[in-house]
Amino acid sequence: MNLTQTYPIARPATPVSLPIIGRTCPKTSTITPKSKTLALLPLAIGEKIHAQLQPVSFKPGNTIYHPEDLIDYVYFPETCVASRLSLMEDGSTVEIGIIGNEGIIGITTFVGATIAHNWTVVEIGGTALRIRAGAFRELLRTDNDLRSVVGNYYNSFFMQVSQRAVCRSRHTLMEQLCSWLLMVKDRVPTNQLPLTHEAIARRLGTRRAGITVAANNLRKEEIIDYARGHIVICDYPKLEAFACECYNTLKSNLTYSFGGSLIQ
Ligand SMILES: [Zn+2]
Repeated sequence: MNLTQTYPIARPATPVSLPIIGRTCPKTSTITPKSKTLALLPLAIGEKIHAQLQPVSFKPGNTIYHPEDLIDYVYFPETCVASRLSLMEDGSTVEIGIIGNEGIIGITTFVGATIAHNWTVVEIGGTALRIRAGAFRELLRTDNDLRSVVGNYYNSFFMQVSQRAVCRSRHTLMEQLCSWLLMVKDRVPTNQLPLTHEAIARRLGTRRAGITVAANNLRKEEIIDYARGHIVICDYPKLEAFACECYNTLKSNLTYSFGGSLIQ
């Protein structure tokens, strides 16, 4: 698919000469990449990859990959949040995983995939940096540091997929909703999430009425509030208390994999 036409680039085509701040590099600038994965790269590979990155901007609902699409680009979200969805024959969806500024969209490129098997759609609009998948594969082939950072994220994403499957079979809709809201909140710099009950229901693979009942209960407890397609998280600790164990399991995994810097 031609993303240049579908999603206009928000900034000049070659602005990506950001000084890289990696764990093994001296801080040469106050500019830190918004992608936390890119921020972990050592200077040498960081410069190589940034030379090939292009900025893109997404609106909520934009499709990044349809099932069976060629994975033409790999994306590093900056401020956007995307969902990887399993699409059923009846048109219903269930979210397999969520990807924000901690991660990589098109991560299966790491294990050699060239075709998307799920539908990846933008949940919360914002920016990302993209690199051609072929160029990314070549950098992975030649750089151990990049393979290490990307491999860590691949493992974390695989764990998210596994834990979410367990969550759907063992935990209540209220618990799942609380965990999911926390996961989204951790990937954006605000407690105001532009989400409708309908959108959440599609991600959690349930009916909107069920989300509305659960959200009403959370509002009565003054944990969240909502209006006009926005959900506001009012009491983060209380929301955590209502969430299932899956949230803390996944958060701990990300913290362990990325030295405590991945999740806000
Ligand atoms: Zn759970």
